[in-house]
Amino acid sequence: MKKVAVVFVLAVLVPSAVLAWLAFRSLRDQQFVLERQQSLLYQGVTDALAKSITDTLAQQQREFADQVETLLTNHDARVAAASFDEQLRRHWPAAEVGFVVTVGGNLLCPSPTNSLEARLFCTDNSAFLRNRESVEVYWNNARKIAPEDLGNNQTSTSQQQLANVASLSRFDSNAEPAVANSQLAYGKAKARKVDPVQKQGFATPPDEAPSPAQTFSKVIPSEGEFHQLIGGETDGMLARFLQNKLKLMFWHRLNRDPQLVFGAQLALPRVIEVLRPFLQADPALHTEICVALLDENTRPMALTRPDFRADWKRPFVSSEIGDALPHWEVAVYLINPAKLPQAARTTRLTLGLLIALLVTAIGVGGWLIVSDLNRQLALARQKTDFVSNVSHELKTPLTSIRMFSELLSEGRVTEPDKQRSYLNIITAEAARLTRLINNVLDFSRMERGEKEYNFADCDLAGIAKEAAETFRPHLESTGFKFATVLPDSPVQIRADRDAIAQVIVNLLSNAEKYSNGSKEITLQVTGHVGPVRRVELKVMDRGPGVPPEARERIFEKFYRANDSLTNTVQGSGLGLTLARQIARAHQGDVAYAPREGGGSCFTLRLPLIS
Ligand code: ADP
Repeated sequence: MKKVAVVFVLAVLVPSAVLAWLAFRSLRDQQFVLERQQSLLYQGVTDALAKSITDTLAQQQREFADQVETLLTNHDARVAAASFDEQLRRHWPAAEVGFVVTVGGNLLCPSPTNSLEARLFCTDNSAFLRNRESVEVYWNNARKIAPEDLGNNQTSTSQQQLANVASLSRFDSNAEPAVANSQLAYGKAKARKVDPVQKQGFATPPDEAPSPAQTFSKVIPSEGEFHQLIGGETDGMLARFLQNKLKLMFWHRLNRDPQLVFGAQLALPRVIEVLRPFLQADPALHTEICVALLDENTRPMALTRPDFRADWKRPFVSSEIGDALPHWEVAVYLINPAKLPQAARTTRLTLGLLIALLVTAIGVGGWLIVSDLNRQLALARQKTDFVSNVSHELKTPLTSIRMFSELLSEGRVTEPDKQRSYLNIITAEAARLTRLINNVLDFSRMERGEKEYNFADCDLAGIAKEAAETFRPHLESTGFKFATVLPDSPVQIRADRDAIAQVIVNLLSNAEKYSNGSKEITLQVTGHVGPVRRVELKVMDRGPGVPPEARERIFEKFYRANDSLTNTVQGSGLGLTLARQIARAHQGDVAYAPREGGGSCFTLRLPLIS
């Protein structure tokens, strides 16, 4: 049993407990898992939108180049340069100012008198376009992060930040920039103004130390004069910040006159209008998220839900657009940010309950298995005891029968009294044998469900009297005072006569066996007045009675009370089991009660024929 319990604990309980613990632990991270899944999904959305915005701007740039070529067809470029600003604005509304500059730094157009925008443009850009001033610009050409920047970051930021910066560099720090001019100075990666809740999908699980919130921009400015920046290229895009405002320029160089560079400063509101149609998330996500195009100061320039408001600096995820719109971002905001923790809580609760239920089921199942195992083991033990008890019970009467019949057959006993006494003993022992064999046979029939009863109307008083008289000689010969209190009139019951007689004999036999020297037995049949008309047959002795803890168990098969008396008396543990089963088959019962004044009182109750 111990071994089975150890195996059970090791093979079932411990693994279940460990699995449950692991499952509960993983539940804690539910919110993180859900957030991570969502952040990956929405990061994909912002990345794709940022990419389509970049592509649209590149498309715009090509459109600009085509427009320049169209405007200058059949015209002398140098002559046409003077009116390029007006011409361009007329034909290409995205332009705010058109300009023409020679590679040598001669600004041919616009004239500051053209418009207010032209005047401002000249004030802000003429020194830069004339190659007299180096300015910080963002441009769509390859560039690198200067080694000293990495060094600075290394000393001023954590290793994590260094990794961030390094991962933002598109090129190895030793690689040469793709443009010819190597005198360009490269700026530092600037901290982004937005602080996404989910940083590029790298959300940290709750028990991991959160990384510093600072995230570096992928967009790094270069510093140089205009001719340095454009190098030998034919087309390009430049962006610079003037008085904290983004200015976006396209430029195109003519094949036929490469010394001339035609350019345009774009009207940003127009550009935003062009981009707005591209700012569409999957319709399925429309109720979940709002996508915003944020400018460099995290102001929303376009929204998929115009009525939506949020802390624009704290999107769920965001992606930078790149050099074309430096420090502009496409950001996703959750419409209902509480939904995610709620969903996580619900999942956690559901799974938690499920795990608890499973663990309880395993526990209860385990307990049932163990208790059933215990019961089976106890039954097996009882069966073994039963076999040895029955063998003993068979042997004892057989020995007596053999001994006394030998004495009689050898003629060694001549006194008639003795002869009669011996014959009585032989009869009693044979009856005991018959009883035992009947009990065993009946029990096995009942176990197999094959026991059959021959019900007929009969008189219980008569059956009791007959059984008492059969038993009386044996009882009286062994010194018992046997009293019967039976009604004179018949007590009509519907029963199997032999089966009821068997019950009475079993009860009388027990009264004899467990008398412990107090040789007084009473058999009584009385009517019982109550809602159901029934009769009671009592067999009472003056023995020690049944200990309280065994009073119900004595009716279980093979059960024998574990007291000193029972240990000295032979028995099979079947007599009362059979008595109860027979009684119940007759819609009655057998019950035990301590007898007043000491002893046992077994009562057989049967319904009367009404
Ligand atoms: P058996 O007598 O063969 O052991 P039973 O089923 O007839 O089997 O009885 C079951 C147990 O009930 C006995 O072992 C005994 O401990 C207890 N018992 C039965 N009758 C009496 C009685 N009259 N007085 C005391 N104990 C009894």
